[in-house]
Amino acid sequence: MGSMTSYTLLSAAKINLYLEIIGHRPDGFHEMAMVMQSVNLCDRITLTNLPAAIRRLQCDHPQVPTDNSNLALKAVDLLTYKFPELANRGVDITIEKNIPVGAGLAGGSSNAAATLVGLNLLWKLGLTQIELEELSAQLGSDIPFCIRGGTAIATGRGEILDPISSLTDLYVVLAKYESLSVSTPWAYKTYRANFSDRYADISDNATLQERQKRVHAGPMVTAITHKDGAAIGSHLHNDLERVVLPAHDKVQQLRDYMASYGGLGTMMSGSGPTVFTLTSTQDAADEILHKVRAALPDPDLKLWSTCFTATGIRLESETKN
Ligand code: ATP
Repeated sequence: MGSMTSYTLLSAAKINLYLEIIGHRPDGFHEMAMVMQSVNLCDRITLTNLPAAIRRLQCDHPQVPTDNSNLALKAVDLLTYKFPELANRGVDITIEKNIPVGAGLAGGSSNAAATLVGLNLLWKLGLTQIELEELSAQLGSDIPFCIRGGTAIATGRGEILDPISSLTDLYVVLAKYESLSVSTPWAYKTYRANFSDRYADISDNATLQERQKRVHAGPMVTAITHKDGAAIGSHLHNDLERVVLPAHDKVQQLRDYMASYGGLGTMMSGSGPTVFTLTSTQDAADEILHKVRAALPDPDLKLWSTCFTATGIRLESETKN
């Protein structure tokens, strides 16, 4: 039998520092303008070669599917579909889940990103990062960002990335009620049903370009360019708060508490229900975490204190047997 090789990768969560829904696209997706940020809350994914064409996955979190609907296995299928000569390769995937599920933190997308990066190494495919990012967009709009990591402006469905200088010296408290999840399709559908009167006519190219330019020249991107934590905190924005907060009083209450503790700014991430507060030091983040814990001593409320990171997927170790 041939040698067994394993790669262990860290797959980072993301938050949205800015999320604007510009309009509705003819392909059914929304046209977005976002600023994405990797945070150092990571799942650990181990990929091991199998001698036969077996693909299997295990995960320590009961809410994560282990069948072909798992985004990591979908990533294996996508590669095999693109490169039919890989059809006889097998892989064993183990996911250690640390990122909460259905949280607006792109945990599943990040696992798919790690799987693509890891299989490129394990199967020696020699794809460039750009090639991996392009391929991954077919699987999910947030996956190219999860591969790239750091800080980026995302437009289109979220798959078109413009780099900006990555932020690192910022800290973040994340808070999520464990039993509460928000379905991303539900959030967008509800937004469309209630607020489509705010949509720009994106079939008009000049309008679309104008709206995208407005974000690039806007206060959030300017604040990031200047690495101005206070300005970043005060320009956080997420259109989806308009539908998720009214539907979940608990999340609104959590957001209100978090916003009152003197951080740089507080916002819901993605389609929620995770709420985050930014701070300029680890101590300030820890202090806010303890204040939230004291104000809301509900064991269902999970809290994390972490930091911004410049990498999306990180190779932790390689093992050859
Ligand atoms: P996003 O911010 O991209 O909308 P999310 O953080 O809201 O993502 P995820 O945790 O990525 O949500 O998962 C949403 C659903 O996807 C889960 O309820 C789960 O059934 C399914 N899923 C498939 N693969 C995975 C995976 N590897 N990790 C987590 N969830 C997965």
